[in-house]
Amino acid sequence: MRVYDKIYINGSWVSSTSSETHDVINASTEELMATIPEGTAADVDKAVAAAKAAFPGWSQTSRDERAKYLQRLSEGLNARLEEIAASVTAEVGTIKFFSQIAQAGLPAAMAHSFVEIAETYQFEEQVGASLVVHEPIGVVACITPWNYPLHQVVAKIAPALASGCTVVLKPSEVAPITAFILAEIFDEIGLPAGVFNLVSGHGTTVGEALVTHPDIAKISFTGSTRAGRQIMALAAQHVKKVTLELGGKSPFIILEDSPVDEAVNAGFQSAYMNGGQTCIAWTRMLVPASRKDEFVAKAKEVAESYAPCDPTGDTIVGLGPMASKVQQERVRAYIQKGIDEGATLVTGGVEQPEEFEKGFYIKPTVFADVTNDMTIAREEIFGPVLCIITYEDEDDAVRIANDTIYGLSAGVYSANKDEAVRVARRLESGQVDINGPQFNLAAPFGGFKQSGLGREYGTYGLREFLETKSLQIPS
Ligand code: NAD
Repeated sequence: MRVYDKIYINGSWVSSTSSETHDVINASTEELMATIPEGTAADVDKAVAAAKAAFPGWSQTSRDERAKYLQRLSEGLNARLEEIAASVTAEVGTIKFFSQIAQAGLPAAMAHSFVEIAETYQFEEQVGASLVVHEPIGVVACITPWNYPLHQVVAKIAPALASGCTVVLKPSEVAPITAFILAEIFDEIGLPAGVFNLVSGHGTTVGEALVTHPDIAKISFTGSTRAGRQIMALAAQHVKKVTLELGGKSPFIILEDSPVDEAVNAGFQSAYMNGGQTCIAWTRMLVPASRKDEFVAKAKEVAESYAPCDPTGDTIVGLGPMASKVQQERVRAYIQKGIDEGATLVTGGVEQPEEFEKGFYIKPTVFADVTNDMTIAREEIFGPVLCIITYEDEDDAVRIANDTIYGLSAGVYSANKDEAVRVARRLESGQVDINGPQFNLAAPFGGFKQSGLGREYGTYGLREFLETKSLQIPS
């Protein structure tokens, strides 16, 4: 049990103006694992004032100076890799093996990727007689969700710092511990006071206070489309810039010529990633109608190989619990909805897995005979629930894939890679992976349609924190 009783403002750990605390619950044991301060709007005022005061100095540091801090950040994260992975496994239910890679290793690699970008990015360019300069936008608010809690924070903070912006972070209240570890690292590496500030608390208090604060120039948000809409509406009052990384209901088109075993396995690697608590999960598997039975049989077999497990063990293929009771209930309600709407439950269901009395578990669940107008095919479930939808031909597959308010991610599988790429070009999606889930830290990440606005990662992520000025200089 950890007690975090301070927030991090202006280079110091300080008390919140409120004495209220928020409980962090272990997803497997359902026990209290930590408490954090329940921050307030007054805390936000102090944090923003500190970030504003630090901005003139930080924005004028050399690129090498900023790169040096990012390098130290990456080293600091690597040094605490085991602790970070264990902490997210406890908060979110991510199995240990994957937690070490995605919840701990990835943020360290992400921080490191911005070292070189800070060193080499062209912050100025000549356009005819004009000098175009790309300047840091100012004080930014970073608001993040619980599913990859540190990765999503670092994907914002690293480019923000590389660009010369100063930051106030509000992490998810469900999985906040790694944000405190991050603040400890910034403190240890001597990041100048006020450049990074942490205020924990709820979205409706701390989050909205940040979004509406007149001295916040930009909001970088990752979370639900519901909260993204609210944030965009509130930000409009001051015409603030926003980057939104929101939800998804991603399709995975398996083309006719695909080998069943490989394709279905690849689909589950995405659909059940982090117990399905993944924004880019391919939760709609589109299979040729003529081969439906083959695909459904294989999907049942593969799904059942993802047995519910203790996430602290050494399992490589398995499902840890959902992050919270709320999330477990939400996923169960969707499973019930699928049954009520007439989809065929191939495996899984709403019951607690017999082997676990405690923990927010969901059985690996697959629905067949899903039509794209059913709730389970339209709304993001965020759990291990796969919908199998049949298509008649390629045009039908593309139509179904694009028939969604979302457009974050997609997959295409084919024995012929060129065919898959040709179909991928027809999809309305920020990223499309060919023949299985892939990941590229330098490639742009973000969504079409209601999956968001703007891009993260690499130079695309950096640009979101820059404002453009053109200087017309007479010769
Ligand atoms: P959420 O929207 O409930 O909360 C995200 C963050 O926003 C939290 O810190 C929360 O406190 C804060 N918040 C909520 N309402 C707010 C408001 N009105 N004003 C300001 N802040 C507010 O999302 P969640 O349940 O934590 O995360 C799951 C969601 O995140 C899913 O929809 C998932 O798809 C999405 N997500 C998207 C991406 C992406 O990159 N596109 C990545 C991961 C998760």
